[in-house]
Amino acid sequence: MPTFRSKAFEDVLHRKPLHHNPPSRKISDFYGVDTFGPHVMREYLTEEAYRKVMDAIDNGTRVERSIADQVASAMKEWSMSRGATHYTHWFQPLTGATAEKHDSFIQPTGDGRAIERFDGSLLVQQEPDASSFPSGGIRNTFEARGYTLWDPSSPAFVIGNTLCIPTIFISYTGHALDYKMPLLKALYAVDRAASSVCQYFDRNVTKVNATLGWEQEYFLVDAALYNARPDLALTGRALFGHAPAKGQQLDDHYFGSISDRAMAFMKDFETESHKLGIPVTTRHNEVAPNQFEVAPVFEEANLANDHNQLLMDLLDKVARKHDFRVLLHEKPFEGLNGSGKHNNWSLSTNTGVNLLKPGKNPKSNLRFLTFFVNTIMAIHKNADILRASIASAGNDHRLGANEAPPAIISVFIGTQLSQLLDDLEKSIKAGKMNPDDKTALKLEIGRIPEVLLDNTDRNRTSPFAFTGNKWEFRAVGSAANCANAMTALNTIMAEQLNDFKKKVDARINKGDKKDEAILKEIQAMIKASKAVRFEGNGYSDEWVVEAEKRGLSNLTNTPDALDVWARKDVQKLFEDLKVLNAAEVHARMEVEFENYIMKRQIEAQVCTDLAQNHIIPTAIAYQTRLVDNVRGLKEIMSASDFKQASSTQMKLIREISGHLTAVKDLVDELIEQRAKADGVEADVREQAQTYANNLMPIMNAIREHSDRLEMLIDDELWPLPKLRELLFTR
Ligand code: ADP
Ligand code: MG
Repeated sequence: MPTFRSKAFEDVLHRKPLHHNPPSRKISDFYGVDTFGPHVMREYLTEEAYRKVMDAIDNGTRVERSIADQVASAMKEWSMSRGATHYTHWFQPLTGATAEKHDSFIQPTGDGRAIERFDGSLLVQQEPDASSFPSGGIRNTFEARGYTLWDPSSPAFVIGNTLCIPTIFISYTGHALDYKMPLLKALYAVDRAASSVCQYFDRNVTKVNATLGWEQEYFLVDAALYNARPDLALTGRALFGHAPAKGQQLDDHYFGSISDRAMAFMKDFETESHKLGIPVTTRHNEVAPNQFEVAPVFEEANLANDHNQLLMDLLDKVARKHDFRVLLHEKPFEGLNGSGKHNNWSLSTNTGVNLLKPGKNPKSNLRFLTFFVNTIMAIHKNADILRASIASAGNDHRLGANEAPPAIISVFIGTQLSQLLDDLEKSIKAGKMNPDDKTALKLEIGRIPEVLLDNTDRNRTSPFAFTGNKWEFRAVGSAANCANAMTALNTIMAEQLNDFKKKVDARINKGDKKDEAILKEIQAMIKASKAVRFEGNGYSDEWVVEAEKRGLSNLTNTPDALDVWARKDVQKLFEDLKVLNAAEVHARMEVEFENYIMKRQIEAQVCTDLAQNHIIPTAIAYQTRLVDNVRGLKEIMSASDFKQASSTQMKLIREISGHLTAVKDLVDELIEQRAKADGVEADVREQAQTYANNLMPIMNAIREHSDRLEMLIDDELWPLPKLRELLFTR
């Protein structure tokens, strides 16, 4: 039994087990009970109101005022029956967290009593004080007003005593101040573009939904240990700490049996998720110790994203009840796997077809190929946009760090589909096709389902991989709002599909048959997008060299990645599709630079504090103990005995001195550099670059010396719970 001496750790060892496990019930008995979904609306609304709201959900039509009044009144009745006393507009500002301001239903009646009131105007629009939310300069302080507007396509829900209404958040001038509004617009753009392309194959398609199935990774650590680590509490990651002797090398955690305590927590938060209609189904241990994953059944992207935001809140709340803390940070522990949030994405029609699923005949396979190859082309043209959409201080520690997707955006499709695209590239003739050519092509395309059946390729090192009937965007960070990545992906896909439609139509106008025109355009895209396809090991150094030869970007840190938003062509792309105008794109870039800087500022401060107030004093205390010991030995021993008896202590004293001096010098340098970095406040780009290039290396060096000290100093004196304690407390 190793000795774990930190005070916090002893508390954990002596704590009584917790019993939060709810009694077993059928999930279907309580699934969705806390959501104002269609099942409730049917019960509470008139037939007409129900139809109109469903139309708003399915087709994005406006809900008129009289109907909104009915919906509000129904929401009030229903939510009060679920225990609600308050309501809030729930929104997703650019802070990254969700925001809510609770108001009571109560309205005094003037006779000393009160009634509950909630009408359409309160449902549809609110005016929270926007001045404390980031706007990237969009909102002048004298126009601090911001509005939240009801999003009927995502159902309201009750948490605790509060009715929560999903909303978008915009400025007085109508600019987006949140993640939801651009996502909705991108989803609309891709719907229009994809529906239009679908006309080549099926005239019944009138609506295409982007679907999203996220996989959320996280770490669980004991709350008492977490609280004794200011770095975890304030920055979400361990800024110090020697890696434990046993990490993930034995691969014994992945898919291993889940500890009772973690299981009790999971059951509890899954119950809470199910009550809110979040269809979580999968749970398992991840690669690193105390790392886990939860995944739902996929849903329409806007709803799926709201559900992910909600789930991240739930994880945190429920974990606290179990004396755990959840770490959503992308890289809490150096030397162990980080956490990501794979975004599985596809397009699905109102006729029930998954456009990225190969069909049973050449015709449906041509449709599949169309959407498949257009995605590759979209990524090829706009890899930098995708990269920028996942940039964050936390994700910088993960991307390209040998166990996460690289910062280079490439596409993996497996050997069989690669072969098929290579064959198609050769076999589609440039001129007019004769009947034999067509038959041969049909055969080739008809082979796809067979090909895919045994397509078991699983390249875990690719940031963007095709997995049989969907794409998997793996480079998204675990703490991110998926909306950022989904807005980018759906926007570039919309742009690409519009471009494709134009080109195919042009070919048809010149006399090509429809199928021929589509095939030729597919061939052109296969040729043009070759550089972005990569089947090899994305973690290897050779790939970095190879990618550079191919002309692919390798934007290794956030400040470099964010510069993409300043490009005129990028701003124009978002503006043309009416997702974000140039001012909004620019504002978002500013906010993200600021977020990056603030995260690093906090880290630098916590690093300084811990080094000066925890690590240096502890090292000195231990050194003093050694010095006392040496002095004592000298008193009682002969000179020759003393020399031998004190040699270990003397060696330790010198080693500690060396690291102490290094830590102190580096901390002084960090403070100096921080002052310099903060001095260039006027230019966020320069400030962010300074943090990335000048301050991060100093922080890393401080850690190195401190981690050595941790190894030298008596366990009993070390003030911070060690990583082995954080990671192996189950
Ligand atoms: P993995 O091997 O990555 O764990 P799974 O087959 O378990 O892959 O699926 C992972 C995720 O993909 C799940 O969250 C699932 O809901 C999602 N998914 C499956 N089909 C689609 C789709 N058509 N669109 C979006 N997400 C999907
Ligand atoms: Mg996955």
